[in-house]
Amino acid sequence: LSERLQGTLKKVSGQGRLTEKNMEEMLTEIRLALLEADVNFQVVKEFIASTKEKALGQDVLGSLKPGQVVVKIVHDELVELLGTSVATIDYDKKPTVIMMVGLQGSGKTTTAGKIANLISKKHAKKPLLVAADIYRPAAVDQLKTLGEQLNVPVYEKGTSQSAESIVEEAMRFARENNNDVIIIDTAGRLHIDEPLMKELSNIKQIAHPHEILLVVDALTGQDIVNVASSFNEQLSITGAVLTKLDGDSRGGGALSIRHITHVPIKFIGTGEKLDAIDLFYPDRMADRILGMGDVVSLVEKVQDVYDEKDTMKTYKRMQSGQFGLDDMLSQMQQLRKLGPLSGILKMIPGMPKIPKLNDEDSDRKLKETESIIFSMTKEERRDPSIINLARKERIAKGCGKDIAAINRLLKQFEESKKMMKMLGNFDPEIGMPTQKP
Ligand code: GDP
Ligand code: MG
Repeated sequence: LSERLQGTLKKVSGQGRLTEKNMEEMLTEIRLALLEADVNFQVVKEFIASTKEKALGQDVLGSLKPGQVVVKIVHDELVELLGTSVATIDYDKKPTVIMMVGLQGSGKTTTAGKIANLISKKHAKKPLLVAADIYRPAAVDQLKTLGEQLNVPVYEKGTSQSAESIVEEAMRFARENNNDVIIIDTAGRLHIDEPLMKELSNIKQIAHPHEILLVVDALTGQDIVNVASSFNEQLSITGAVLTKLDGDSRGGGALSIRHITHVPIKFIGTGEKLDAIDLFYPDRMADRILGMGDVVSLVEKVQDVYDEKDTMKTYKRMQSGQFGLDDMLSQMQQLRKLGPLSGILKMIPGMPKIPKLNDEDSDRKLKETESIIFSMTKEERRDPSIINLARKERIAKGCGKDIAAINRLLKQFEESKKMMKMLGNFDPEIGMPTQKP
């Protein structure tokens, strides 16, 4: 999949702005990537439409290709949708009541144990696990075993009592025993049904949970939308947990859950073991869903280096005829960070062809330029025309190069200055010359 996206990236290049046309192919690929990541098709449709609108007309900086910029915009939109910040649980209420809900097999019981483990170790809390899944004896035993492993008390009454009454008693028990976090494990079904929802609503009324966490298996697929909306409508969930992310799932379900419920995803499950739980990091998940982390970091790097303010400053200095050796050096350094010089400069309309330098060449050249310029005085850097033979000899001695190297540098400076003059009426705001040079 990543290869296919890379292929699309290569096809479109050398365009200064994002247009409907140069985004089209990449957006198609991204649509497919999201669907393959199990994001609900309706969610994908709405997401692509809104992203496209935002991306239109945005700049394609430096040597970047439109497709790469689109990937970055999509990534940022994904992060935005997934929640931007890391959501946590406030354990300060005494007691804090957490209710786990979800379909059968989603990972409620396991996650209840993981949270109990986490808060007793990391938050120095005294949790109580409550066995309110009374439909299978094995479910109660499972929680009891977890409690023993973790050394956390489990309130259970087997399967002979209603879930509601167990929860009621457990609340009292927790108060008497100073348990400061109560985690209620509830029953699930294979599909959503009315009696279960009724029972969960009753438990909610009795326990007044601060958190109702919907536990969802990341492998659920398209049905995740129905699950999330039903549980949210009936119970007003406060957060979600996406489990089994240690498997093949690309985690697209996270996007569907957020889109449908708008509640934060508070944890992810990354294995069967009791410490296999993690906070939910929106940017990591966006990378995982899109599968294009490398492109995103490339674009970030370029945008970082290609600081628009810096560029504007250089243009201003250039336009007022103040271009000196320090400016040339800082330009070279900036361009060096961006990769091959020619790739970037050819983006500028009317730019003369520049011989291609390989990485080693340009590294060497930059080092040489630096050492020469560093051996010059401030005045010489500002106005190289004052550099006569005596000065050249002094500079050459200072940097350990010969006079020819100094002459080459000064010649290069004259060339750059000419180029800058040519660009003097280049308007970086509109990305083209305001008038013909
Ligand atoms: P419940 O029916 O919702 O209570 O689900 P369980 O907690 O009993 O989990 C069902 C199965 O999924 C068990 O075999 C768990 O070990 C497994 N499971 C739960 N969470 C994870 C996870 O994050 N990763 C993996 N690989 N398995 C998990
Ligand atoms: Mg269970």
